[in-house]
Amino acid sequence: MNKYIFISILLIVVALITNCKKEYTLGSDPTVDEVEHYVRKTNDSRAVFSYKQYEELLTELQKDRYVVLPINQFRSCKRNDSLVVVGLRHDIDWHPFKALEMARLEQDFGLSSTWYILPTAPYFAKYSRKELNRFSSMLPIYKSIENSGCEIGIHNDLLTVMVTYKMDPKQVNSDDISFLRRKEIQIFGSAAHGSTVAQKAHVVNFEMYSNFTNRSSFSFRGKVYPLGSYSLQQYGFYYEAYHVDHDLYFSDVGGVWNVSGGSFKSFMKTLKNIAPGKKVQILVHPVWWKK
Ligand SMILES: [Zn+2]
Repeated sequence: MNKYIFISILLIVVALITNCKKEYTLGSDPTVDEVEHYVRKTNDSRAVFSYKQYEELLTELQKDRYVVLPINQFRSCKRNDSLVVVGLRHDIDWHPFKALEMARLEQDFGLSSTWYILPTAPYFAKYSRKELNRFSSMLPIYKSIENSGCEIGIHNDLLTVMVTYKMDPKQVNSDDISFLRRKEIQIFGSAAHGSTVAQKAHVVNFEMYSNFTNRSSFSFRGKVYPLGSYSLQQYGFYYEAYHVDHDLYFSDVGGVWNVSGGSFKSFMKTLKNIAPGKKVQILVHPVWWKK
C-alpha cells in the first residue's frame, strides 16, 4: 500500500476514535455543556413518563389534603389526622439536568422536595485508579436546584467507592460534602443507591453506617470489606432517607410504579385514596421523565 494512503487511513481511524471518545466519555475538568451533552446523549432516551404527567402529580399534591416536604423537614413532621404528610424525594442517579427542570416545575407549583446527588455518577466526578476529580462546573447546577427551594442530599454509593475504586469511603464522602459546601450547599441526609456492587454483593449502601447493619464485614469476589465502621453521624449526616419514619412508600423505580398494575394512572389512583393521618414517602427518579 502506498505509504501516503496508509497514513491517511491511519489519521481517519485516529480521528474517528477521538470523536467517539468525545461523544461517550468526559475528561477530568469538563464544562457544564460537555457534561450536559454527555448526560443527555446517554440518558434522555430512557424516559417513560412525561412532564405533563408530573404536572398532574404536582396538581394533586397541591390540594389542601396534602402537606409536601423535603425529607429533612418530613422526618420531624408529626402525623396529622386531617392531612396526608408527603416526603417528596428524588434520587438524581444519572440526570442532574432533568432534576433541575423538574425542581423548577415543583417551584412553579409552590412545592419543594429533596434531590440526592450521586457522587459516583459520570456527571459528578471522574474516577481513575487512585484519583478523583470532582467537576466544579456542575456546582451551579446543584446550587440552582437548592435555590428553587429544595434540599440537596447525597445519594450514598460508598460501596462502589470502596469496592470498585479502592478508596477510603469516609474520606471520599467527607470530601464530597466539603466540595458541595464550596458553593454553600447544605447537606443534611443521605439515601442509599442500589448500585451494581450492592446488588451483586447482597449489601445495601446504608449498611456502611453502623446504625443500620448488624454485620462488621462482607465478602465479594474473594475479598473481605468492612461494614458499619462509622455511624451515620460520623459520616456527617442527620438522617438516612429509607430510615425516616413513614407509613407508605411509593417509587417509580425502573420506570414502573410499585403499585398494582405499575402504571402512573394506578399510582395516582392509589395516592388519591390514601386516608389522612398517614406519612408517605414518594420517590421520583428524574431519568424516567421527559418534556
Ligand atoms: Zn439510585
